[in-house]
Amino acid sequence: MVSTSSSTPSRSCQRSGVRQRTDRCAFHRRSRDAAVLHGQRSPDQRSGGRRCRRAGLGRQEPDGLRASPAFTRRQQSRAAVPVQRHAGTPARGFTAGGGTVYTSYFACDWMVCLQDAPGDKAHLALDLFLPTGVTSVGAGRMMPRLAASSGLVLHCWRSTRPYSPYLYGFAAGPLVRRSERTSTGEFVYLDGTGTKADLATLFAQTPAMAAFFAGKAGLPLPNGRYVQVLVPGVEAQEAATFSLIGKDELDSDRNDPSSAWVIAHEMAHQWWGIWSHARPGKTSG
Ligand SMILES: [Zn+2]
Repeated sequence: MVSTSSSTPSRSCQRSGVRQRTDRCAFHRRSRDAAVLHGQRSPDQRSGGRRCRRAGLGRQEPDGLRASPAFTRRQQSRAAVPVQRHAGTPARGFTAGGGTVYTSYFACDWMVCLQDAPGDKAHLALDLFLPTGVTSVGAGRMMPRLAASSGLVLHCWRSTRPYSPYLYGFAAGPLVRRSERTSTGEFVYLDGTGTKADLATLFAQTPAMAAFFAGKAGLPLPNGRYVQVLVPGVEAQEAATFSLIGKDELDSDRNDPSSAWVIAHEMAHQWWGIWSHARPGKTSG
């Protein structure tokens, strides 16, 4: 069981000192679950944008809804957007199985944001209500865990810098954890395959790769910490402060070392594509 909240963090989590900002009104129109904006169900493909405009929030775009300039000026670029989301399954970018869940790329299918707007960087405050014993990873750093109702535990993740919407994400489950610390930073490896993978061997080259990229970029490892989540299949996707690495991709790399790419490619995005990126346009995984 996983429930998320990105718009109404608990009081305790708000003490983290990380400023929150909500200045966009956006839903991906393919999301299957219902949403309510200012008391009105919104959006569906035919009428969502119209209803949002009527509420004074903005207009619908191909991949979501954007707050109107008048709305943001009146609120001095800061606004609270009351949102209620109901139980449902995001149409894209959400994988669950074996007690593990993770998101990939299509963040605006499960939270309020505008997917195809990489220049619209913002902080993310994400609260995950998880069963006891579950490990999670999200953008930035995690605040101390808190007991929640119904026996759940609240994991509060707070970004330490603004990120493009497609980089918002999380993973949670009975993840086997391994970590190491070098002069480059802290490296965490989480096994979400349920197969007791040999994390030490699979990710052995990680610290050396990070040191290489830091040297070439002339910048330290962002956040001083990098997490790789091993998942089944051919997944390969960077996210804010972590990446998803598919076991099948690693197996392919091992069978053909001369063309190995997945660990280096996704790690490089922590500097190029996440920390610095081109002007808004197309993004790739
Ligand atoms: Zn890429």
